[in-house]
Amino acid sequence: MSFVETREHQDLRAAVAALGSRYGREYVTAAVRDGKHTDELWAEAGKLGYLGVNLPEAYGGGGRGMVELAVVLEELGAAGCPLLLMVVSPAICGTVIARFGTEEQKRHWLPGIAAGTTKMAFGITEPEAGSNSHRITTTARRSGGDWVLNGRKVFISGVDVADATLIVGRTEDLRTGKLKPCLFIVDRDAPGFTRTPIPMELAAPEKQFELVLDDVRLPSDALVGDEDAGLLQLFAGLNPERIMTAAFAIGMGRYALGRAVDYARTRTVWREPIGAHQAVAHPLAQSHIEVELARLMMLKAAHLYDSGDDMGAGEAANMAKYAAAEAAVRAVDQAVHTLGGNGLASEYGLAQLLTASRVARIAPVSREMILNYVSHHTLGLPKSY
Ligand SMILES: Cc1cc2nc3c(=O)[nH]c(=O)nc-3n(C[C@H](O)[C@H](O)[C@H](O)COP(=O)(O)OP(=O)(O)OC[C@H]3O[C@@H](n4cnc5c(N)ncnc54)[C@H](O)[C@@H]3O)c2cc1C
Repeated sequence: MSFVETREHQDLRAAVAALGSRYGREYVTAAVRDGKHTDELWAEAGKLGYLGVNLPEAYGGGGRGMVELAVVLEELGAAGCPLLLMVVSPAICGTVIARFGTEEQKRHWLPGIAAGTTKMAFGITEPEAGSNSHRITTTARRSGGDWVLNGRKVFISGVDVADATLIVGRTEDLRTGKLKPCLFIVDRDAPGFTRTPIPMELAAPEKQFELVLDDVRLPSDALVGDEDAGLLQLFAGLNPERIMTAAFAIGMGRYALGRAVDYARTRTVWREPIGAHQAVAHPLAQSHIEVELARLMMLKAAHLYDSGDDMGAGEAANMAKYAAAEAAVRAVDQAVHTLGGNGLASEYGLAQLLTASRVARIAPVSREMILNYVSHHTLGLPKSY
């Protein structure tokens, strides 16, 4: 890993930033206001090869990795128009299928995911389990050659626009009776698979859903990967999820700081622009440093992941997600404050990021669960739960 970005990465950043600037925050705000999705941007990013940059070339992808996918999401976010479903469709689902799917599953799903013409959501969170994913109860049992899935999921993003959802369930080990995690592709229209939107205080085009799986019958090839290696396969998808959530947060932090700096440079209520007051400038400078540090950790995690070091990437991806979320929450808060009353005015569109920036602090794994992970795995401290 080099601390200096390659020419290729710089060019990718510049090209994605140019695409993002053609859409910008106004495009997202209008989509939210009109109850639409950001389909045009998604389609164009797909056509340009950005959505599948991490997927294998043999299946229509760009043959690169998480570094490049994270760069794409970060730059779109920095332009004010992040695509949340990049975190789930190409990063989690695309990765899991590319690494563990059958040849048939790869040929069926990957070219569409890479081009953006197919979207896949990802469902692990359950109402009773929450952060404790060991408690998930969505269960798959065999019935003839099929699988039958029963369970409930909450807060699953983008199910309305996804062609399918990768559902984390459990199967019973016939020898030990223990439940083990398994991944299933559930088609959007599978009988027994229903979704209800959850009203959220988020100004985002992507919606969250409660899902019910009521005797959902799936063909045997709906199972992705090996029934006995589900946990390993799951982790292979969760590291990209954390890296991409970091990219999402870093993009948002950069966007908010950019707006605040523009404002602080020109808004003058005494002799000098407000940005000349250190009480205004220093917190912005501090936030900029925090965002940059988080980005460094995100790139470390992505490089480790791309080099095949799943264990090393796990620790770095958790730390990157933590650092990025904290940096984004503080950057947005400071940006809103920098604009004074205008920080809360709809015209400037910054206040809506106060809620949005907190998503990365909660999902896909909360700040406290990352602190738990670092306490136990990195520092070797005992567990309270
Ligand atoms: C906008 C949004 C989009 C989402 N999209 C998806 C998606 O696409 N797919 C999906 O599967 N899920 C999704 N989620 C769900 C998300 O991953 C969960 O909300 C998250 O994992 C936290 O679970 P919970 O909400 O049940 O909180 P809980 O587990 O109930 O936690 C509540 C609070 O208790 C704290 N806490 C819990 N246990 C401990 C502990 N042992 N030590 C210290 N503190 C603890 C937590 O940190 C948190 O602050 C999304 C959530 C949001 C908000």
